[in-house]
Amino acid sequence: MMPARILPVRNPRTGDVDYQLHCTAPEALRDIAASLRQSQPRWSALGVHGRSEVLDQWATQLIALKRPLLDALVTDTGRYRLSLAEVEGLPHKIRRWAKVAPEILRTRSHPAAMSPQVTLDRQYVPYTLAGFISPWNFPLSLSFIDALPALIAGCCAIVKPSEVTPRFIEPLRESFANIPELADALAVVAGDGATGNALVNLVDMVCFTGSVPTGRKVAETAAARFIPAFLELGGKDPAIVLQSASLSVATDAILRQGMVNAGQVCLSLERVYVAEAIHDQFVQLLVSKASALEINHPDIHKGHIGPLIFQKQADIIRDHLADALERGATIACGGSIIRRDGGLWCEPTVLTNATHEMRIMREETFGPILPVMSFSSTEEAIRLANDSDFGLSAAVFSGDIAEARAVAERLEAGGVSINDAGLQSVTTEAEKQSFKFSGLGGSRMGNEGLLRFLRRKALMIQTGTPRSMDAFDEADSSIA
Ligand code: NAD
Repeated sequence: MMPARILPVRNPRTGDVDYQLHCTAPEALRDIAASLRQSQPRWSALGVHGRSEVLDQWATQLIALKRPLLDALVTDTGRYRLSLAEVEGLPHKIRRWAKVAPEILRTRSHPAAMSPQVTLDRQYVPYTLAGFISPWNFPLSLSFIDALPALIAGCCAIVKPSEVTPRFIEPLRESFANIPELADALAVVAGDGATGNALVNLVDMVCFTGSVPTGRKVAETAAARFIPAFLELGGKDPAIVLQSASLSVATDAILRQGMVNAGQVCLSLERVYVAEAIHDQFVQLLVSKASALEINHPDIHKGHIGPLIFQKQADIIRDHLADALERGATIACGGSIIRRDGGLWCEPTVLTNATHEMRIMREETFGPILPVMSFSSTEEAIRLANDSDFGLSAAVFSGDIAEARAVAERLEAGGVSINDAGLQSVTTEAEKQSFKFSGLGGSRMGNEGLLRFLRRKALMIQTGTPRSMDAFDEADSSIA
């Protein structure tokens, strides 16, 4: 057997390599997949209520083991409050799915519309083994956002978190190691892209959250195997601020959705289009609010902006800023990546005079940066917002809800918030699909978030008399 690969892991607050990730070896991964496949009929046979009870035990364990999980996640990401929200959120999400699943999975038989003597019924058949590959920006939540409904649906699951933020894997594994039914249904494996690729080759369906280039590779591997791939990828979310908008509401929401988690959010606002008449006032207010934000250094419990979790992100941010300045953008505040100890923090940044010739308006930046551009008509605002390879989500601000809604309906994005931004993170039932390169496949939110793990089987019961071959006797046919 090949020795497990060991990957160095950097600490985002110190820049030190202070952790080693022991990757799950390919042979071990195959064994895990085989063992989960063997267990899946037992997991499925527990029924939705039985599986919910097992997952409820896990929620209780997660609450009891909160501290080690939180400590690991805080070190992985260099920020506290959002890590706490991730750790405290998981038990709630488990219990929410357990609560809503029985009704979603209820089937009802009924007569077929065209043949009433045939009774139609439905069986849901879970995929045996589902794979989940997640990124580093919300390491815990995004590892389970799809895996939880899959488990509730009756699939067995292998989760592979990002190699950039892997410290939480150990305490996470401990949290369900003593729940035998769950330990037989769920595995969390460790590794990088090679491990992810091996995983896609072993499962019956895959849910991938990450970048567009990796998503393309996952989709290609899945296509060659004829397995479904659900892709949740990058974004370049626009905000449109119409002339009648409340400046106070718009600047508060846009600032939050541009800066939270230091902009390392797929739903981060990364382009702002403001009506000409209010542009200068808007920028003034946005800059005054952005300038009041502080980095969470030296005290992790103070400030608003955490470090850049992934060092390579600093190069992307620097390149985008340099390109924007070269092409005529102006820095209204921020604009630098600062080093404290060995960590890297990006200053909350507002840019003006942005144009679509700039990479910062076209490519995902993933930093706390808000480039602002003015527009002279609503048509122009819609055209600019839609002029993108991405279509994850968007926001529209207006004093008139009907006007905002009319604009929202024309935006090419899976979720549009009105007079706020990123509202899909607080509306779990809102089904949405990504447009363009932001993703592929059914909604991860709402009922579809559970149903996509189940194949629909039609059960058709003849309650009358089956047609005999007499119905096809040519002698009985007359020319129409
Ligand atoms: P990434 O694509 O580099 O990596 C994501 C995961 O894929 C990691 O676990 C990685 O090990 C794995 N991977 C790498 N190569 C692989 C391969 N060939 N086959 C299978 N797996 C492979 O993304 P990242 O840098 O970790 O995350 C940031 C990106 O994720 C951003 O683009 C962000 O917008 C996106 N994201 C999207 C959502 C969403 O819901 N749409 C949410 C969060 C993040």
